[in-house]
Amino acid sequence: MTGTPGNKILVKGADVLGRGRTDLLLADGRVVETGSLSASGAQVVDADGLIALPGLVDLHTHLRQPGYEESETVLSGSRAAAKGGYTAVCAMANSTPVADTPAIVEQVARLGREAGYVDVQPIGAVTVGLAGERLAAMGEMHASDANVRVFSDDGKCVHDPLVMRRALEYVKGFGGLVAQHAEEPRLTDGAQMNEGAVSAELGMVGWPEVAETSIIARDVLLAEYLGSRVHFCHISTARSVDIIRNAKERGIDVTAEVCPHHLILTDSAVGGYDPVFKVNPPLRVSEDVKALREALAEGIIDAVATDHAPHSTENKDCEWAAARPGMLGLETALSITVEALGGVDDADWDVVAERTSRTPARIAGLAGHGQDPAEGAEANLTLVDPSARWTVRGEDLASLSTNTPYAGMELPVVVQSTFLRGTPTVLDGKLNDDMGEK
Ligand SMILES: [Zn+2]
Repeated sequence: MTGTPGNKILVKGADVLGRGRTDLLLADGRVVETGSLSASGAQVVDADGLIALPGLVDLHTHLRQPGYEESETVLSGSRAAAKGGYTAVCAMANSTPVADTPAIVEQVARLGREAGYVDVQPIGAVTVGLAGERLAAMGEMHASDANVRVFSDDGKCVHDPLVMRRALEYVKGFGGLVAQHAEEPRLTDGAQMNEGAVSAELGMVGWPEVAETSIIARDVLLAEYLGSRVHFCHISTARSVDIIRNAKERGIDVTAEVCPHHLILTDSAVGGYDPVFKVNPPLRVSEDVKALREALAEGIIDAVATDHAPHSTENKDCEWAAARPGMLGLETALSITVEALGGVDDADWDVVAERTSRTPARIAGLAGHGQDPAEGAEANLTLVDPSARWTVRGEDLASLSTNTPYAGMELPVVVQSTFLRGTPTVLDGKLNDDMGEK
């Protein structure tokens, strides 16, 4: 495959964000010219009928390396991301060992560069070993070559209010951000699914929404008190939206993400006891789905984040209670987001770009990402076919794992090509096998 750095690529006739057709000349990692252009030696990529979007940015990816390489590696997860239209992903810290030191975050960043499909930005742990007790070496991780700016104990909540206070104060010194997995552990002890009518019917221990909202409310108040900013991972309930709306109206510096699965699935899916639908926070009810969709459209929820959580068959293809929580997300996120924002026929590509690229890039501090494909911008972009549909099959995905909750579903929007600094990572639906540092 062509597309080595130094090559020029002419993307012909792309509809940039639904605003109209133009050609885009990509060279030296940037969009160098737009308009009606002639090839003059450039490789031509036909984008007739395709929408050009800024490359997607994921605030919340579990790449599973180091430690769980049977489920995913930085390479396989990066390939899945590129196929999903992503050019940058933030790798969560709950690997083994935990990413709580400069050595581990630098290792993850290096594996990302070697893979070469997306920019892999490591997230550092807030506390040592995700144990929730002592602050991790956040300043050192920030000062390291990995330049960590976002910190999270995701998978676990920073539930001790004093530890959370110290973390918010500490990262403020260098403009860092704490991303909270909001789950009061005492309220979710033994929980298997959303607490409600379905859990009562199935006789399963429930995960009540107040376990999420109580932590969000507390951390909003802490952020206000300290003048810090805070980000909430995967919010899943209508009440969480209410609290975040109220916080924003009060001028408190909070941001929030929602996962695709919480925008389309409900706890009724749990009735068949298929662990592919087990996730943390759990699938909620249709009123929550509706509120999350509205808040995403409105911008109260800032970003879509995948919480891409690959699990090996051993950990997922078992009894519900024994199965690990989590779902794949990178290759289906754009399709689900478009569906959740009102469907492809009425798609507002500007809003899609805002929630999947520009805002997450800004929250994570990823310069060069989240820029519309325009003259001078880094050439991080994706071309999608809005009129094509596809049927999800776990075995067709680039991820090493197959735990997609959408198997068999037909979804709108097909990612055709993705470019990272002008080099195609995916071209005409196929991964470029010639990526990465040599
Ligand atoms: Zn989480």
